[in-house]
Order: sequence, then C-alpha cells, then structure tokens
Amino acid sequence: MHAPLAAPPPIAAIATPAGRGGIGIVRVSGRDIRTLIEAVAGRALEPRVASRVDFLDAAGATIDSGIAIYFPQPNSYTGEDVVEWHGHGGAAVMRLLLARCVELGARLAEPGEFTKRAFLNGKLDLVQAEAVADVIEAATATAVRAAARSLSGEFSRDVHALRDALIDLRAYTEATLDFPEEDLDLLREGDVRERLATIRQRLERMLARGRAGAVLREGLTVVLVGAPNVGKSSLLNRLVGEDAAIVTAIPGTTRDTVERNVEVAGIPLTIVDTAGLRETTDTVELLGIERTRSAIARADLALIIVDAREDDRVRGSAIGEVPSTLPRIIVHNKCDLARIAPHVVGQPNSGDAAGGGAAVDVWLCALNGDGVDALVEVVQRVAGIHNVGEDALFARARQLEALRDASTHLQRAEIHADSMAPIELFAEELRAAQHALSSITGEFSSDDLLGEIFSRFCIGK
Ligand code: GDP
Repeated sequence: MHAPLAAPPPIAAIATPAGRGGIGIVRVSGRDIRTLIEAVAGRALEPRVASRVDFLDAAGATIDSGIAIYFPQPNSYTGEDVVEWHGHGGAAVMRLLLARCVELGARLAEPGEFTKRAFLNGKLDLVQAEAVADVIEAATATAVRAAARSLSGEFSRDVHALRDALIDLRAYTEATLDFPEEDLDLLREGDVRERLATIRQRLERMLARGRAGAVLREGLTVVLVGAPNVGKSSLLNRLVGEDAAIVTAIPGTTRDTVERNVEVAGIPLTIVDTAGLRETTDTVELLGIERTRSAIARADLALIIVDAREDDRVRGSAIGEVPSTLPRIIVHNKCDLARIAPHVVGQPNSGDAAGGGAAVDVWLCALNGDGVDALVEVVQRVAGIHNVGEDALFARARQLEALRDASTHLQRAEIHADSMAPIELFAEELRAAQHALSSITGEFSSDDLLGEIFSRFCIGK
C-alpha cells in the first residue's frame, strides 16, 4: 500500500460545472484546514452538519452567503479534512470564493486530485477511483449502472476473491518447494490441477464480463451498407426508436449525414451510413467517401441492407464493400413487400465481434418495425453482450489487459504442470498471475500509472 504523502498542502477547486447555476460548490481538502474554515466562515463548523454561513473575504466583507459542510478526517471523501462551500452558482462568485481559499494557503487542485488523495489514503482502491470518472463520463444509463457497481466495490471484490484463491494455491504449492522429492507428486495430484482449472474458469468468465463492459464503455461502430433506397434511413430511425437518445451529434455539414451516435438497447452505437460510397469525382464527396472507408476500417460490425426481393447476385455487390474479416449481419428489408415473414437465419457466435464469423441473415420490415427487435438481439449476440447486461464489468483497457495477463500466466502454469516442468516454474507463473490481478486494484502501481489515470479526471473530483 502507499504511504500517505508528507503533509501535502490543501487543495481547492470549483466542483460544479462552469457556467451559471442555482448552486456552485467550492471544495477544499487538506490535512488540517480548520484555520482556513474559520477564516472563511468566521467561526468553527460543526462536523457533517449543513451550516448557514457568510463566506468572508480578507477584510471581513461578505463574498456570498450559503451553506458549508465540514467533514473532519478521516471520515471524508479524501480521508483528509474536507469542507464544501455551497454558494450561488455564478462564475464570478465561485472564482472569488476559490481565490479566498488559495489566499488562505490552498493550491488549485489538479484534475482528479481529490480522488487521487482518496486512493492514496486508502478510501478507494484503483478500480473504484477509476469508476468515479466512469460514472461521471458514462453516456448511457446502462453504463452508469455498470460503473456504479464498480464504484461500490463489486469488481474489486471479484478480483480479490480470485486473487485469494490464487494465494491459497501458491501457499500450497510453495510449501512443497522445500520438499523437492514430492514435486512431481504434487503436480500429478488432481487437486492442484483442479484448483487451477477452477481459477482459470472464473478468470475467463470475468474476462467475458469485462469485454462486455468494454462494449458498454466504448460502444460499437456499426456501418450500414446498402444501395440507395433499400431502407437504410428507415432502419436507422427504427433502431434509434422513440425512447432512445441521440447521445451526441458530431458537428460539421458532411459528417452529420455520415455518422450518428445513438443508444440502442443500452449500447452506444456509432452508426455510419455508407450511402454514396460509389459516387463520384466531386471533391467534397470524395472526402466523404474517404471518411466512410476509414469508418469501415475501424468498424466492429457491418449491417448489410438489401431488398428482400432482390436475388443473390445483387446482394453480392453490396457485400463486396465490406472487408471479409468484418462481422456482418445481412438485413433483408422490406420483407412485407417480398411477402416473407420476419425471421432470423444463422447463429452468431457470442463475443465474435473481433473475428469474421458466419453471416447471420435477418428478414425484417423497417417501415413498421417488424423484426427489428430480433435484429437488436443478434447485434447484442455478435457484440458478446447478450445476456450479460447487468453482469457486465465496466472494465477499462488497463484492467482488461491485466486480466488477460493473469490468464496467460495461468495458461503457462497449466502447461508446466502438464510437462512436469520443475515446480519452481509453475510457482513463478502463479506469482505473476497474482501480481497481474493485484495491479487492477492498485496494490502495486507506479506513480506513472497513477498520474496517467488521474490526469483524465475533471477538476474538482
Ligand atoms: P435509404 O435510401 O436506404 O436510406 O432508404 P429509405 O429509408 O429512405 O427508404 C426508401 C423507401 O423505402 C422509403 O419510401 C421507405 O418508406 C421505404 N421503405 C423502407 N423500409 C421499408 C419496408 O420495410 N417496407 C416497405 N414497404 N417500404 C420500406
């Protein structure tokens, strides 16, 4: 664990967003900020009670009137003394109040510095600290719930449980290092192998949940491919639906029509409409085509839309636009006109978004929405998040990498066990796997990593 820093100066920041609002909050955290509090409030404050105070400047004049709450250490967000000044939410008022705190010895907080102090003081582990930023940044309701579960410590508990199982196994293994003649027997014994296999299974399950969480976090880029008039816009509107929010609209004239960010069944989707892919020499359009091509290159999934009445030859030309490695769903639209009932043919492999995989065919009617639910389910299956939903771990790339790392070491341990290698090699892989797991919650973490993580926070958090 990290030792607390040697008496760092108090930090202060405006914790509410810039701009005008009914209330604005300046937050201060430090080892002992009672003098600062008394100077601003004109008196000492009762802990954890909302007190009505006038915020005073150096001359004793009132800057603003509001509410103050004092959280003495260690029972505060950061583990230090914390005070929150709730004033009126105007930019000038907030700046004056902040300047007053700086005048009294606080320095301006860096992004994420309150949370960093909470981590350094053991109030949060690294997964929870990262989850704080994730809750703030989450773009969809599903993402908020997933991040909140990480914040409450669910992810950390799962990681710890797995780490503890590994520690048990290591203790058992290393105890026999002193009795070399029993090495082979130990590895041959079913028990060690079985325990290792169980740990690996749990790790794999966690990885799957983490990958699903990554989809919730990063979203999917889906390209819509199809000839003009097959119903791409109609399908897009159906997918967005009445209750789905347009999360962001990318500004710019051409791009608006090319790329849209929407939420479908809790997944942030970037939908790239490839209309006009085959059109011509106009420079502006060529730029659009260029952008479309690059969108296809970074896409996770292609929805190839064809008219259900078309024959396979016409279908082939639309499919030709999509690289063969890109997972695809073939949407046969206008099945009403073709007099075919909505249905699905083919089964996507769960979590197949990374590799080609067999195409799935979905017949639907974008005009009245028949069969669109089935399409959404297929998209979820391809993305590996079908039936994961509330179970998803909102894992970051860093955390997924550590889980993968741990998995690789356990795999190697199994190979050592199979090949009857010296037990030291087996034990070493278990140690490395445990180290990888512990890095997730920050038991071992470098200052560089911490700097990297907290610099991405907003100020005041
Ligand atoms: P886009 O050019 O690919 O974006 O195609 P649109 O979404 O603009 O649709 C072209 C025309 O087909 C419009 O008149 C739609 O109303 C119609 N259309 C789209 N989907 C269906 C469908 O499932 N059934 C029927 N009957 N018409 C549809």
